[in-house]
Amino acid sequence: MPIDAHQEKLNFQAEVKQLLDIVVHSLYSNKEIFLRELISNASDATDKLRFESLSDPALYESDSNLAIRIHFDKDARTITISDNGIGMSCDEVVENLGTIAKSGTREFLARLTGDQKKDAHLIGQFGVGFYSAFIVADKVTVLTRRAGLSAEHGVRWESRGDGEYTVANVEKPARGTDVILHLKEDEQEFLDSWRLRNIVTKYSDHLNLPILMPKYTDDKKPTEEWETINRATALWALPKNAITPEQYKEFYKHISHDFEDPLTWTHHRIEGGNIEYTSILYLPAHAPFDLWQHEKHHGLKLYVQRVFILDQVEQFMPNYLRFVRGVIDTTALPLNVSREILQDHPAIPKLRSALIRHVLDLLDRIAQDEPEKYATFWKEFGNVLKEGPAEDFANRERIGKLLRFASTHADTAEQTVSFEDYVKRMKPNQKKIYYITADNFNAAKASPHLEIFRKNNIEVLLLADRIDEWVVSHLPEFDGKPLQSVAKGDLPLDEIVTEEAASKRPEEEKKEEMQQQEFDALIKKIKTLLDDKVKDVRLSHRLTTSPVCLVRDQNALGPQMERLLKAVGQPVTETKPILELNPDHLLVRRLREDVAEGQLNEWIHILYEEALLAEGGALPDPAAFVQRINKLWMEIFK
Ligand code: ADP
Ligand code: MG
Repeated sequence: MPIDAHQEKLNFQAEVKQLLDIVVHSLYSNKEIFLRELISNASDATDKLRFESLSDPALYESDSNLAIRIHFDKDARTITISDNGIGMSCDEVVENLGTIAKSGTREFLARLTGDQKKDAHLIGQFGVGFYSAFIVADKVTVLTRRAGLSAEHGVRWESRGDGEYTVANVEKPARGTDVILHLKEDEQEFLDSWRLRNIVTKYSDHLNLPILMPKYTDDKKPTEEWETINRATALWALPKNAITPEQYKEFYKHISHDFEDPLTWTHHRIEGGNIEYTSILYLPAHAPFDLWQHEKHHGLKLYVQRVFILDQVEQFMPNYLRFVRGVIDTTALPLNVSREILQDHPAIPKLRSALIRHVLDLLDRIAQDEPEKYATFWKEFGNVLKEGPAEDFANRERIGKLLRFASTHADTAEQTVSFEDYVKRMKPNQKKIYYITADNFNAAKASPHLEIFRKNNIEVLLLADRIDEWVVSHLPEFDGKPLQSVAKGDLPLDEIVTEEAASKRPEEEKKEEMQQQEFDALIKKIKTLLDDKVKDVRLSHRLTTSPVCLVRDQNALGPQMERLLKAVGQPVTETKPILELNPDHLLVRRLREDVAEGQLNEWIHILYEEALLAEGGALPDPAAFVQRINKLWMEIFK
């Protein structure tokens, strides 16, 4: 467009006028964002210059110290945001500040409702941009000159935000853009260097470009001395090898408010794909005190193009990884994105699954290469990670790999094993991964259900955590091997007995048949005596040293889960267990003999109650149990 010394009056594109009205009215409650938007534009302009100068170094015009300068003039009531970035030609000014080139503008405007709150959300999605200047200014002047053009090709753009603007050709020696805000009468608060500095550090601290302000005298007059008011380095934007471990650690403390060093971290820059982002994700070395308070906000710090957007954004991490701290910086979200918009922005699921992958990769890596670190992690956050199989179906197998359990293979509760370890040790015939759940390690380890497994040297995982039974209910298998509770259902003897024992099976079976006949009468009697407590009574193959045990149906809740549900007030349909007798046990054999009816009743109840105790359960009537025991003693001492 040819422009002479005269200024020319032009009309905004109709959409601009509409957008301007909405921005000014719906975003007034958050008006300080104008500064963020203008700084972000200035930063973009320097990015563009940096990029274009790669092929044309002359664009720097011997001034390669890119920076943003902000100053105010109290008397003139102006704030000026200057950059020495790419600048704009006259055509570009008209194009960029007079029209909206964005696709979907019409659709966006059509969706506006007139309800300020809803519109504010929509506009956040759309991007507020340059026009946010009119939230606080009643007149905006832009002085700009495109890098590479000479000083007389400067442009002055000016508007009161009322539907028209003027452009004029002016002389501008310095490359770049000055945006001068003539503040509205009641926006005096921004004529204050502390106020401005605060906004800058709040939103733009980690912009990788210095933002300078003059030092002001007490009566708010600028001095000649300029100082940088932001940190000016976006740590995550630096190449990984330019960042020291110390810097990573400092940065962690800065964003997490944790005084201790993190356990480890992972830094990713993903470019050129369909979604671009940079992330640094940290694992803390210890669980925060509020880890289990679900209402407490956790989450990542979100930046868009190095401009700080939101803190504690939960959408990027699932609950089971809520201990992860860090930042994500992406171009996939609009600058003015709000929490509400994040909820259903289409970029979120993609970013989320990528970030989950990074965390799981990191965990895999330390589990493999730094087992001690992993043990620390597991101790602090294992119980949170255990929520994973239920929450994240897609990653169930990967999370399963990261879980750790006590085992009959180890001596203490602290020596944990993984499913992978377990699978490696499975016997040739073994098709299932066996586990037992109990209230604590000792109860699990001492369970009578383990006897046959011990005898045949088959490993059993000891799940002694309150939530373990719930966890495995969401993990039906690992590596194609079904998980099986040793306290439930029938035992597949052919899978668990050793080869040597298997060769003796025919003999055993004959013996079992005989025992079946031998114990038939006793079993019938016990069934009547315990009719209200057990579903069935049968001979056991599980026991070697205990006289009895209780077995649940394959699909029944285990005792641990039953207690857990009861504790949180959930209705529990109680299923009666099966009482199994060890036909080789002396006590059981004696019962078969001539025992008086009344005595048999007492003894049977004691055995049943013992079985309950052995699985960590509470006795329904402890006093009766004590009485029965004492009565037995009396008999003996009589
Ligand atoms: P966005 O930044 O999302 O593109 P804005 O409304 O913030 O939208 O800005 C509109 C356009 O105006 C920018 O794309 C850019 O081309 C131009 N612009 C704004 N500020 C500057 C600046 N300081 N220097 C150069 N160009 C600018
Ligand atoms: Mg912008």
